Amino acid sequence: MRRDGTLILCYHRIAEGVEDPFYLCVSPGNFAAHLEEISRAREPSTLADISAPSRRPRVVVTFDDGYRDNLTSALPIAESKGVPITVFVTSGILRDHNGLWWDRLGTLLRSRPPHVTEIELPAGGRTVRLPVGSSGIRADLDSVRRHLLPLRVTEIERALDAVSEQWQVGSAPPPDAGTLALEDLRNLAASDTATIGAHTVDHVRLRDRPVLDQQDTISGSKAELEQSIGRAVSHFAYPFGGRDDFDGGSVEAVRSATFDTACTTIPGTAHSSTDPYRLPRRLVMDWGRLRFRAQLQRWKLG
Ligand SMILES: [Zn+2]
Repeated sequence: MRRDGTLILCYHRIAEGVEDPFYLCVSPGNFAAHLEEISRAREPSTLADISAPSRRPRVVVTFDDGYRDNLTSALPIAESKGVPITVFVTSGILRDHNGLWWDRLGTLLRSRPPHVTEIELPAGGRTVRLPVGSSGIRADLDSVRRHLLPLRVTEIERALDAVSEQWQVGSAPPPDAGTLALEDLRNLAASDTATIGAHTVDHVRLRDRPVLDQQDTISGSKAELEQSIGRAVSHFAYPFGGRDDFDGGSVEAVRSATFDTACTTIPGTAHSSTDPYRLPRRLVMDWGRLRFRAQLQRWKLG
C-alpha cells in the first residue's frame, strides 16, 4: 500500500426505520461502529489535510446533499468519536423547503393510485409515458429517475408538480427526509467537527449543461453558503459525482470558483498525485462493523 493514500468516504443520511428506496441511509449504530473502525486503524482527516504527511493511511468522512439528520444524528456521533465530517450542501435547500426531488418522486410513486399504470412526464414540450406499478417501486423509481436526471431541476420540479396534480396526491418528502434550514446549517458550521462544503445550488446533473449554467450553480452555491455561515467554503462535490455526471467544463468552473478540492463518486483512493478537482470517493452502505472493516481492507488495495 502507498503511504500517502487517502480514502474519502461518501455518506448521505444517518437514519434507520425510514423509507430508503435509494439506499442513502446508514443507521446511527452502524455509523458509530464505522467511525470506531476508522479511528482504530486509520487517521481520521479532513480534505484540507490530504496533502500533509501522515504516519497512518487517512480517511475522510463526507456527506452529500444536506439532509437535516447530518446535524441531528451524524454530528453528535462524529463529535463523540472525534472524527471530523465534511457536509456538501445543496445551497438551494436553504430557500426552498420542498425537499430534494428524488425524495418527492419517492413519495409520489408510493402514493400512486392503484388504477394508474403509466406516469406521464412533461419534458421539453412533449410528454413521455413510462409504465409504473408492475415491477415494484424500486424499478419504477429507477426508470423515472433515469428519465428525469438529464433535465434542468426546474423542469424536474414542474414534471413532479404535474404528476402530483394529475394523480391528486401530495409529493412532500417524508418528514424524516428533511433538509437543513439556515439555522441548522449555522449550527452544523459552528461545530469544530464539521466542515461545510458546496454541492451546487440545485443539484443538477452538470454534464453537457451550458458552461454559464454550470458556473452559476457551482459558484452560486459557494457564495450562498459563505454568506450563510460567514466563512470560506473551500471544498466541492459534483452532484451524483459519477464519470457521466460532470464534464471538463464542470472541473474548470470549480477551479475558477477557487475551490481547493472537488470530490467525485468515482471509486478509488486519493494520492498526492491525484487531481484535487477529481478526488475519488467510496460510497458507504448500511454495513455492520465487520462488513465495514472488510471493506476498509478491500479498499486500501484499490
Ligand atoms: Zn448529491
